[in-house]
Amino acid sequence: MTTRPVADTAAVRQLIYVVEDDEAVARLVVRALEEFGYPVEWFHDGSSVLRRLQTERPDLCVVDLGLPDLDGIELIRQVGALTNCGILILTGRGHTIDRVMGLELGGDDYVVKPFEPRELVARVRSILRRRGSAGQAGTTNQRRYASFIGWTLDCAANSLRAPDGAEHVLGTAETQVLRAFVERPHQILTREQLLGQRDLSPMDRSIDVRISRIRRKIEADPQNPKIIKTVYGAGYMFTAAVAWS
Ligand code: CA
Repeated sequence: MTTRPVADTAAVRQLIYVVEDDEAVARLVVRALEEFGYPVEWFHDGSSVLRRLQTERPDLCVVDLGLPDLDGIELIRQVGALTNCGILILTGRGHTIDRVMGLELGGDDYVVKPFEPRELVARVRSILRRRGSAGQAGTTNQRRYASFIGWTLDCAANSLRAPDGAEHVLGTAETQVLRAFVERPHQILTREQLLGQRDLSPMDRSIDVRISRIRRKIEADPQNPKIIKTVYGAGYMFTAAVAWS
């Protein structure tokens, strides 16, 4: 048995939303954060992230102040009203007043464009660390139990409770994959994203093995899966709504 690196696992589980309409900048940010093991979701505009916040709360939002549909300052205010997640502001040089407003309205820190991706990751980690230690002092916002259509995944105990109450103990590898799914439902996830690895060999079938094991547990008909769907040529998608507690 291998020992699980607890600190790293905790970092991996901190979900980050990136709200940025400039695709090149967004790619840079998403890639840098994913390289550090953070699950990331990207939103092109303010209204799509506000919709997403109705169903899932991230640990941190990276918010560009110049969005096409909504003033970034207004978005920060609304995000702050919906969740207590961390907020990192992305801003252009010279937008000092917006930056100050953003910080006053609940932003934790800011990064001025153009920026080094490593600098952005360092700011993100520092915000999460500060908020994490505040959380341990009492206002914790842990994401341990993920429930979907009667099933509950206990991410801390690697166990899965069936709708009938039966407990299944999962292997670490299966838990990792199921966790990746429940953190990003309704999205196509590549094999690399599910395994948390880069540059996976096309011959590597370990993901298929893990997914068929999970399907045998949760699908009514594993040959005709409804919860974890295969998206040919792209990856897999978890189709059930997920609630965290
Ligand atoms: Ca922009």
